[in-house]
Amino acid sequence: SMASPALLMRVVASAYSVAERAATIVRNVMDGGDLGIVEKTGANDLQTKADRLVQMSICASLARKFPKVTIIGEEELPTDEVSEELIEDSHCEEILKKTCPAQYTGIKEEELVIWVDPLDGTKEYTEGLLDHVTVLIGIAYGGKAIAGVINQPYYNYEAGADAVLGRTIWGVLGIGAFGFQLTEAPAGKHIIVTTRSHSSTLVNDCISALNPDSVIRVGGAGNKIIQLIEGKASAYVFASPGCKKWDTCAPEAILHAVGGKITDIHGNSFQYNKEVKHMNSAGVLAALRNYEYYASRIPNNVKQSLVP
Ligand code: AMP
Ligand code: MG
Ligand code: MG
Repeated sequence: SMASPALLMRVVASAYSVAERAATIVRNVMDGGDLGIVEKTGANDLQTKADRLVQMSICASLARKFPKVTIIGEEELPTDEVSEELIEDSHCEEILKKTCPAQYTGIKEEELVIWVDPLDGTKEYTEGLLDHVTVLIGIAYGGKAIAGVINQPYYNYEAGADAVLGRTIWGVLGIGAFGFQLTEAPAGKHIIVTTRSHSSTLVNDCISALNPDSVIRVGGAGNKIIQLIEGKASAYVFASPGCKKWDTCAPEAILHAVGGKITDIHGNSFQYNKEVKHMNSAGVLAALRNYEYYASRIPNNVKQSLVP
């Protein structure tokens, strides 16, 4: 008989379905019209009812199936019991059919850390820039991002009534990434994607120093990694603190699964063990191809301004 699938594959298969349920919640809250916006550290750091409900749904659903896994979510929430209506129990069969890479077959629940950004791009969500929004579930082992799910609840929302709304992208190191068409950015062009709502002089000076052909300003770390893997942008450059481990874990796993690279602005890789500091204090630098081109051109004064 078939051996039961490896824990990692069962976690990814469940995370896929949990992220699809999350997307439904994100759309339902918007349709309901009351976003329940709360300012966290200020007007550019918001939480909505969707951020709250989705985090409860993802964390409670995964904790029920995998009780010994460490799950770290962005939002601080009351520890009330989560309504049964928010629990997602299903999984993606297609993912369970894939072979777990040999180096991950022995992983135990206690060794996994799941980083959850229930709604990445909240500022844009509140402003109606709906396709900037993603749901991020990143899976780490030994401090490394090894698997991830990115759901984009409003993918295709401007494509007309016939288009299927929303999509789920997933990936595992050693298997690859699925749910999108891998595309390289135009050869010889330097198209930088960066923040639209968290700019600063340093963020803009760093981009200018790279002498780009064009700059795309969009919300969300998940959305920016999608720009890289679909060939819309050649590098993601963010010379600022502000991005957290839950923003980068799932995007990192998917980008690395297709041969890209993401680091801080100094070129240091991110660590995802449960004790790690949440803030990516030294910014973000990522590319699908030619990472070294961008890394070698980050000005020294920018590096000196960003302490890891
Ligand atoms: P952005 O590219 O501005 O959408 O940022 C990507 C992620 O990092 C989002 O989850 C933001 O909320 C977060 N982020 C970046 N900069 C800041 C900041 N200055 N304050 C709060 N969150 C930030
Ligand atoms: Mg985020
Ligand atoms: Mg968020």
